[in-house]
Amino acid sequence: MLLTIATTHSPATELGHLLHKHPDRCQSFSLTFGQAHVFYPQAQPERCTAALLLDVDPVKLVRGKGARLEQYVSDRPYVASSFLSVAIAQVFGTALSGRCKDKPELAQTPIPLVAKISVLPCRGGENFLRQLFEPLGYTVSAQSHTLDEEFPDWGQSKYFTVELQHTLPLSDLLSHLYVLIPVLDDDKHYWVNEDEIEKLLRHGEGWLTKHPARAQITRRYLKRQHRLTREALAQLAEEDNPDPDSAEESHAEEEAAVEKPISLNQQRMNAVIAALKKNNAKRVIDLGCGQGNLVKSLLQDSFFEQITGVDVSHRALEIAQERLDRLRLPRNQWERLQLIQGALTYQDKRFKGYDAATVIEVIEHLDLPRLGAFERVLFEFARPKTVVVTTPNIEYNVKFENLPAGKLRHKDHRFEWTRLEFQNWAKQVAEKFGYAVEFQSVGMEDSEVGSPTQMAVFNC
Ligand code: SAH
Repeated sequence: MLLTIATTHSPATELGHLLHKHPDRCQSFSLTFGQAHVFYPQAQPERCTAALLLDVDPVKLVRGKGARLEQYVSDRPYVASSFLSVAIAQVFGTALSGRCKDKPELAQTPIPLVAKISVLPCRGGENFLRQLFEPLGYTVSAQSHTLDEEFPDWGQSKYFTVELQHTLPLSDLLSHLYVLIPVLDDDKHYWVNEDEIEKLLRHGEGWLTKHPARAQITRRYLKRQHRLTREALAQLAEEDNPDPDSAEESHAEEEAAVEKPISLNQQRMNAVIAALKKNNAKRVIDLGCGQGNLVKSLLQDSFFEQITGVDVSHRALEIAQERLDRLRLPRNQWERLQLIQGALTYQDKRFKGYDAATVIEVIEHLDLPRLGAFERVLFEFARPKTVVVTTPNIEYNVKFENLPAGKLRHKDHRFEWTRLEFQNWAKQVAEKFGYAVEFQSVGMEDSEVGSPTQMAVFNC
């Protein structure tokens, strides 16, 4: 299976920077299902072509499955399919996310590109192929192959050699291929679950909502699973017409996906709970509780006697309630819990009387000019003995493989702070309202950029 990507951008060999693969070298990568090789059949300043050759191991495909003949005699090793998407994500992951250390601007610049796929199975034929790529601006040429040259009566196969030509940023081309190849093939080599919605939305960002075939793309991408398709289409519709509650919901998933590889959420919950226990805080109010991540953990721990979650988003509270219902806790346990709708920037009597307040990944959602109001609501009026605040450390963002350079972790973040900025803010707040403050890092610490989450624990 061969994919080539050529450019006539001048100098064309800059394609090597964009792909993070040097034109003079032939490189091989081991994937779970075989080997991927990257090399350049052509590397001149006028024209440069990179090739991704995928050597899918047919024996690995059937191993452990109880071999059936059809599994040995299959087109999978020879055609473009979800294997190629996985190879693109693994071998060209940085380029796919639109990042390029050496040439950051070039990564965002439209350049003339031609992608050629040696064999692409197109269920739905050439028409469907054109319906997918032409609305995105590609010039498509497709050469169909007969089923068997010796038996022309058998007609045409579903296999095409395809050339796609367009002037666009390389990451857009890779995203289109990543999503649309398995859509044309109408199959996936792995089990499809909720994670797949997130991948579709992430790689479809900026083009899928407007694509005239988005419903078919979504259905096929999610292997025709009705529930997943419904969910994904609902989220796409929301992106088209954002309503703050539901946008928050899907963005929260995006943020979780960015941070997922290190299960940061769990580490954050553990650190917050440890800080609460250390300060003997048994009555806790979680401000900006969202979908109830922390509330859920507190409820499952009998140390905590009273737990209140507050959020401005009615939808988030509804989801939190559903998630908590699923815990099926005994009735008397529920008496410890309360979920209330409220805004953190307005004085509220209901926030008073707790040992501790937690503000987990919330301050970065507030407009900077409103931060002062929030400080007074919390530290002056509610005034719990302990306050735990966490927020992303922006310095760490360079470590997230799937986060494009310069982007914040979540669409609704109004800001993200460096360690110094956060500590300066927290020290000034502590001094103003008569608290002492200590800092802690959460998640794997990097010697240069620190840890992904920063935490401040205030006490008065
Ligand atoms: N603490 C949760 C959610 C973080 S997302 C967690 O760690 O999972 C940020 C949350 O803050 C969202 O649910 C959003 O609705 C809420 N939020 C943002 N601005 C708010 C405000 N002014 N008042 C109350 N909640 C707010």
